[in-house]
Amino acid sequence: MAEQLPEHPEFLWENSEPKSSYDVVIVGGGGHGLATAYYLAAHHGITNVAVLERGWLAGGNMARNTAIIRSNYLWDESAHLYERSLSMWEQLPEELDYDFLFSQRGVLNLAHTLGDVRESVRRVEANRLNGVDAEWLTPEEVKEVCPILNIGEDIRYPVMGATYQPRAGIAKHDHVAWALARRAAELGVDLIQNCEVTGFLKDGERVVGVETSRGRIHAGKVGLCAAGHSSMVAELAGLPLPIQSHPLQALVSELFEPVHPTVVMSNHVHVYVSQAHKGELVMGAGIDQYVGYGQRGAFHIIEEQMAAAVELFPIFARAHVLRTWGGVVDTTFDASPIISKTPIDQLYVNCGWGTGGFKGTPAAGYTFAHTIAHDEPHPLNAPFSLERFETGFLIDEHGAAAVAH
Ligand SMILES: Cc1cc2nc3c(=O)[nH]c(=O)nc-3n(C[C@H](O)[C@H](O)[C@H](O)COP(=O)(O)OP(=O)(O)OC[C@H]3O[C@@H](n4cnc5c(N)ncnc54)[C@H](O)[C@@H]3O)c2cc1C
Repeated sequence: MAEQLPEHPEFLWENSEPKSSYDVVIVGGGGHGLATAYYLAAHHGITNVAVLERGWLAGGNMARNTAIIRSNYLWDESAHLYERSLSMWEQLPEELDYDFLFSQRGVLNLAHTLGDVRESVRRVEANRLNGVDAEWLTPEEVKEVCPILNIGEDIRYPVMGATYQPRAGIAKHDHVAWALARRAAELGVDLIQNCEVTGFLKDGERVVGVETSRGRIHAGKVGLCAAGHSSMVAELAGLPLPIQSHPLQALVSELFEPVHPTVVMSNHVHVYVSQAHKGELVMGAGIDQYVGYGQRGAFHIIEEQMAAAVELFPIFARAHVLRTWGGVVDTTFDASPIISKTPIDQLYVNCGWGTGGFKGTPAAGYTFAHTIAHDEPHPLNAPFSLERFETGFLIDEHGAAAVAH
């Protein structure tokens, strides 16, 4: 019997044992932690790095997101950051020699009210000034891009047009995690699972290591990439963060032939839909309003998102839901991320990506690695500092970030 079993698959990375000290410790082995470790090693020659993950690698939001990638954010700072990320997505599979199944099938952001239309047209113009491919489409043009969309006048909120970003799309999130983990490990990074950070070692106002469920680890520098748990981890170092964590859920239908050629999002009726590579319809909505750390969401969100989906796509009415799940997302009150030094020496934070950090994975890793290596921000992430919450230089992306991911 044993001979008939397939051979054990070759692992993509080694499961390392923690050493007593590293030049850099990254807390959190999701996409952002792995990307940061990869860029530290590949671009800055810092290879004595450990990624500490309390569960299994990329088992948090990295495994739970709906994998939408786009860069059509309103403000210059965001457009620069997300557009850099999108161009990195376009070349990263080759750089890491791993197919992410990055499918640039375009994203439509629907407008259903005059307010939506004004905001969307303004965003398209702002995007173009920043070199982001963006178009404003009439309802008829929207229908050409997505023939199954209902543009009839007889629904609660008829489609009045949409912004369209043709280079946007979806990728396979587990492939992204595996590619980054494999290359980081090849470059010498230790990827350590089942290792929860439970405290910080400090020398005055300087962090010198972490307490973990697998013992003390000394570190020259510590970078936090703990997404939904960022404020809890930072609190252990005595650093309050302007972050609230909320459940965010999504669901998939049973498998279908290809019927949905693009990604459709609607802030107004609160649903977004794409079709996964395998054929499931992938649907999401907004966050649950209450603060929480349970990886599941409230039922009324699903009910409302299904009502909105069926109104926009009547042919989905007979589809069955196969699976629902939730994650915990870290939101800031300007709906923009924090990639920053902190008031505590040698402690750095990358968080606040909320509902939209998958698309930011390459740029987050790239800019956060730069910030850690040089002890100062890269020009792309300088505006995304913690200080903006004191100075008031907020980057309000609620319009572009709301339901949209
Ligand atoms: C349902 C859903 C849909 C989404 N859809 C999209 C989308 O379509 N497009 C998009 O751009 N974004 C989307 N997002 C958001 C995106 O998933 C996140 O912003 C992004 O994944 C966050 O970065 P990360 O991958 O590093 O997070 P995570 O994968 O959550 O990584 C953080 C890691 O830190 C670990 N950790 C926490 N505390 C500790 C500790 N004390 N010690 C050690 N490790 C610790 C966690 O276990 C976790 O693995 C979605 C999120 C959800 C939940």
